[in-house]
Parts: sequence; C-alpha cells; structure tokens
Amino acid sequence: VERVLSGMRPTGQLHLGHYHGVLKNWLKLQHECECLFFVADWHALTTHYDTPEIIEASVWDMVIDWLAAGIDPSNATIFIQSRVPEHAELHTLLSMMTPLSWLERVPTYKDQQEKLSSKDLSTYGFLGYPLLQSADILIYKATQVPVGEDQVPHIELTREIARRFNHIYGREKGFEEKAEAAIKKLGSKRAALYDEMRAAYQENGDDEALDSARAMIEEQQNLSLGDKERLLGYLEGGGKIILVEPDYKLTPASKMYGLDGQKMSKSYNNTISLREPIDEVTRKIKTMPTDPARIRRTDPGDPAKCPVWQLHEVYSDEITKSWVQEGCRTAGIGCIQCKQPVIDGVVAELTPIQARAAEYAEDPTLVKNIVAEGCEKARKLARETMREVRDVMGLNYG
Ligand code: ATP
Repeated sequence: VERVLSGMRPTGQLHLGHYHGVLKNWLKLQHECECLFFVADWHALTTHYDTPEIIEASVWDMVIDWLAAGIDPSNATIFIQSRVPEHAELHTLLSMMTPLSWLERVPTYKDQQEKLSSKDLSTYGFLGYPLLQSADILIYKATQVPVGEDQVPHIELTREIARRFNHIYGREKGFEEKAEAAIKKLGSKRAALYDEMRAAYQENGDDEALDSARAMIEEQQNLSLGDKERLLGYLEGGGKIILVEPDYKLTPASKMYGLDGQKMSKSYNNTISLREPIDEVTRKIKTMPTDPARIRRTDPGDPAKCPVWQLHEVYSDEITKSWVQEGCRTAGIGCIQCKQPVIDGVVAELTPIQARAAEYAEDPTLVKNIVAEGCEKARKLARETMREVRDVMGLNYG
C-alpha cells in the first residue's frame, strides 16, 4: 500500500490556496492510501519563532478546518509534529550526513536570503527546514507527499537524502557479490538491460531509466524479496533500502492565485480563508482588481491579464469559461457579471465547510481526542524506523 504523508504549518487561518493546492489531494488520497497528516508546529517556528501565540492559536483551528473539509479520522491519522519527538532525532542524525551545499541551494532558502531586511535574522532553523521536512517524510517511509508547487524542491532534496543514507548505511557484508548473483537470476537479456539502465541512471541521472529498472525488478516472480531489495539498492549505487524515496503529488491548482494575481499567501494579504464570513467573501471578490485595460464597461479585455480568470480556472466549467473568454474579449459582459459565477462557486464550497467547522469548534474534546489517538499511532510507526536507523548508524548499544 502507498503511504502518504503531508503537513501544514499552523501560522494562521487556512485559505483557498491550501484547500485547492493540497487538501483536495488529501481528501482523495484518504480513500486510496494509508494517510498521515500532521500539524507542522516546529516548521511554523522557523518563521514565527517570536510569535508563539499565533502558533498556539492556529493548531486546533487548523485541525478543525481539515475535519470540516472532509478529512475523516477513521481513514487518516492526524497528529502534531512536536508530539512525535522522533522527528527531531532523525533530523539530527540526517544532519550529520547532509552536505551544507545541498541546503544552501534550496530555492526557498536562496529566496529568503535575498529578501532578508537588516532587522531579519538568518537562522539555522530556516536553513535546516527542508532537512527537518525530509525527516518528517522519511521517518514514515512515505511514498507520496501531496504538496503545493513551491515545495517540490524539498521533496527532491528528501529523495537525495534517502539515497545518500541508503548508500552509506545500507550496505550489508558481501553486498556487491549478492547483488551480482541476483542480477544473474534475471537472465542474460534482462541482466544486460538492467546494467544499461543502472549506468544511465548513475552516470547521467536519467530518472526514467531508474523507473523502468524498478518496474522490471518488481515484475520478476523468480526473485526473493531480499534479491529485489538488493537490486533496487544496487541501482542507486547503494545497498539496502532503509529510507524510502518519496514522490510528490500536485493538484491542478498547485499554485493557486490570490485576489491580486500573485500566489495566494497570508504574507501577500490576498487570501480568502476557509472560514471567511460569506459577506466578506462576496465583498473581497467584488472589489478584486481586473484587467487594467477594462476601464469602462465597454472596453474589451484579456482574461490572461485578469486575476478573476485565474479563479475561473479553478471554479468554472468549460461553458462558463468560454462565456468569460468571449464576453471579456468583446466587452459583451462586464467585470461584475464575470465575477458572479466565482462568487457563487466559492460560497457554495465554503458554506458546508463552515457549518461543519462550527460543529467541531463546539466540541474541543472530540478534536483533541482525534489528535491524541493520531499522535500515538504516528509515534509507533516513527519508533520502528528509528530502531532501524539507530541500528545501522551504530547507535544501538547493547
Ligand atoms: P501562507 O503563504 O499563506 O503563509 P504557507 O505556504 O506558509 O501559507 P504552509 O503550511 O507552508 O503554508 O503550506 C502548506 C501547504 O500548502 C504546502 O504544501 C504549500 O505548498 C501549500 N500551499 C500554500 N499556499 C498555496 C497556494 N497558494 N497554492 C497551492 N498550494 C499552496
């Protein structure tokens, strides 16, 4: 079974960017895979270390938003990062083998360095953020990580970390000979293909070759599980697979735009939160900027230059979208008219979520129990991985 892990930072109210960018995938995956969703409170401290009250206030509200959106605790484990301190242990251990340059070249770190003003601190925690994220994922051996587009480089880093860890710590005695013997069991034709794909991956970083080789190995009926594992490990130049390389999973709105046409984000003040009062939703959309060329109702416009169009991309069906395209270009419709289907779509989406959120908000004990149970489940899984990790790193003193 695929295992899914994903988290969000409790830094304020969840908004439509979180909903369409990530939560939509959570809602789907909870019926298909084993899912673990967590409140990333330590990650929140990387940027909000001096405002603990925001984190504290947002943790439970965020869980309520997830439940109200339809995350079902009987299908998904919901937990809080800091209640599973094994994440911190794995982070420390991974930090010993992670080249500093890998962290320094992560785009979110580079961007932050460029944006820092003289009063901002450049912290060790922020540099290590993607490594802590790697620990969050690897500790559960998650195979899929639903995220927004900005997080993709972090998942790629996680894959590299897993590969390096397996390479260093996954070698059993006589690994090479055992792997060679397993290659022979493939038969001469497949063995040649395996070698070719291994070279393509190791020499040229050809990920497609890696995927094809993996698929070929998985299909082989005559190989034991140990042999399969050795071949998979050998492919990547390492040994046994201890930490699993995850894939990221994006929704069609993996970069959802906000009211001003930039990425929807609290820091741009361009959000509609999941619990935004309905009259405020209407007001915000009605006052959204549109294509600056449409000064008068009779001026034609271009949807590509209009933030409202980006919301139609998420909320409208093909017929409505053609109506907008045609109407905007010919000035057949006005901006107020154009905005109405978006208002209707957002209101229809948020009304039932807000009703459910109000019910959960009235029962804090229920919410806390769901989380307590989730923390226990997650901790059990995390402990299993840590036993293995300590073992191979020589930390299991008798
Ligand atoms: P904000 O920018 O509003 O403070 P955030 O990005 O800091 O939000 P995180 O908790 O870091 O919030 O993100 C949780 C998840 O939501 C991440 O996977 C992130 O990529 C995704 N996400 C956040 N904003 C958007 C958006 N506008 N579109 C798509 N995905 C988003």
